[in-house]
Amino acid sequence: MKTSADLRKLFLDFFADKGHEVVSSSPLIPANDPTLLFTNAGMVQFKEVFLGQETRKYTRATTTQRCVRAGGKHNDLENVGYTARHHTFFEMLGNFSFGDYFKREAIQYAWEFLTETLQLPAEKLWITVFEEDDEAADIWLKEIGVDASRFSRIGAKDNFWSMGDTGPCGPCSEIFYDHGPEVAGGPPGTPEEDGDRYIEIWNLVFMQFDRSADGTLTPLPKPSVDTGMGLERLAAVLQHKHNNYDIDLFQNLIKAIQKLSGTTDSSNTSLRVIADHIRSCAFMITDGVQPSNEGRGYVLRRIIRRAIRHGHKLGLKEAFFYKLVQPLVDEMGEAFPELTKAQPVVEQALQIEEERFADTLDNGLKILDHAIEEMGDKEIPGETIFLLYDTYGFPIDLTADIARERGLTIDVAGFERHMEAQRNRARSASQFGGGLSETLIIDGETVFCGYDHMRNEGVITALLVDGENVDKLHAG
Ligand code: ATP
Ligand code: MG
Ligand code: MG
Ligand code: MG
Repeated sequence: MKTSADLRKLFLDFFADKGHEVVSSSPLIPANDPTLLFTNAGMVQFKEVFLGQETRKYTRATTTQRCVRAGGKHNDLENVGYTARHHTFFEMLGNFSFGDYFKREAIQYAWEFLTETLQLPAEKLWITVFEEDDEAADIWLKEIGVDASRFSRIGAKDNFWSMGDTGPCGPCSEIFYDHGPEVAGGPPGTPEEDGDRYIEIWNLVFMQFDRSADGTLTPLPKPSVDTGMGLERLAAVLQHKHNNYDIDLFQNLIKAIQKLSGTTDSSNTSLRVIADHIRSCAFMITDGVQPSNEGRGYVLRRIIRRAIRHGHKLGLKEAFFYKLVQPLVDEMGEAFPELTKAQPVVEQALQIEEERFADTLDNGLKILDHAIEEMGDKEIPGETIFLLYDTYGFPIDLTADIARERGLTIDVAGFERHMEAQRNRARSASQFGGGLSETLIIDGETVFCGYDHMRNEGVITALLVDGENVDKLHAG
């Protein structure tokens, strides 16, 4: 069996053989990008190189980049526990060309790695290109010889990438793996594609144009390549597992949680959620984030509290989350020595946060259960959400998570009315009535932050980022 560690090495070695410099993962806090909450792709650390603002001694690179998608533009937090393929933390394997090779080599390398190095059968692989990208289509169909029945052209929403409103952009080509007819879901580009049968494993981005403010696309003098493949998704394919949480790396974490909780069913959703969350939380702390009521720290706090609540569901009433750092270090410490180094700091931060929340979680849950029994319809009243938030430290997404599990919805508008009332009370109580802000902008990005923050600061925050609800408070 190929372990996750084997695959990580096979990938990096493959591209090193093709002249790529093996570059270490950068931290989760982007060094030069204040617009970004967390590093969410392999290209982040190379942004300036792609923009031509920085040069390196190499024109080809390969990495396994630690990524978090739990806030801002990419937010997969609500998918964890619901899909087979999404994590808040994952490793993105990538190969990059900085004005060196382009579409032909990028496609050939990807195909060679999958079908020769890893020996995956071609019939299991489905290919998409951007609908207008005839060049990539010709390479796949005529040079590689991919069967047209497993090939499709897709619109810009999924298959055109851009760095921002202006700057480098270009078409993508994605490779999907067919997990077989036992799994529900349709091929890419069909209305049923949201299922988990055809899982996207690799995205090849061809940076081909420079977009100007008026939208004009000018061909880049030296086009580049940026690719990303989820290590966990690849491991699932190679280990003949449909669900990422069934791969070696997650199973070892899940076993550790089972040992602590006595849970026998290894596919229990709470086990999966906790195994996911220990990875994102531990790496965020490793990279310098601490639980707090704002910005990155509040994303971390919210994820920790969700994990603790899932532990509570498994009957874990004592602090347990920090005990998973050791098994995580056993799994990932070799590939990420910074994690091993930070282990004591991570354990301590998690334990403190657990102890702080443990006092109120149990009582808060009792209040919630009582409110659910009392309520006439399927919607948890705003007043309850507010009480849980304000007195028991339940971030609103935690209550939403519980509601979703039970097929209930939450009254967000009612909650916001209570928040507004609280805000007004704070305003009139404050001798400096002004200075309140409706949204909290951290490093140029509006993030959902602690409403309880206002108790101290008189600051209140919004749930919106770029007009998108970052917390997706859906309960259906
Ligand atoms: P999906 O459509 O499945 O959400 P994506 O199109 O958002 O994936 P990309 O932004 O193209 O993903 O990222 C490149 C690769 O990283 C994906 O092909 C996938 O293998 C992996 N990946 C993306 N998001 C996640 C995640 N939340 N957990 C695990 N792997 C991921
Ligand atoms: Mg996605
Ligand atoms: Mg996709
Ligand atoms: Mg993609």
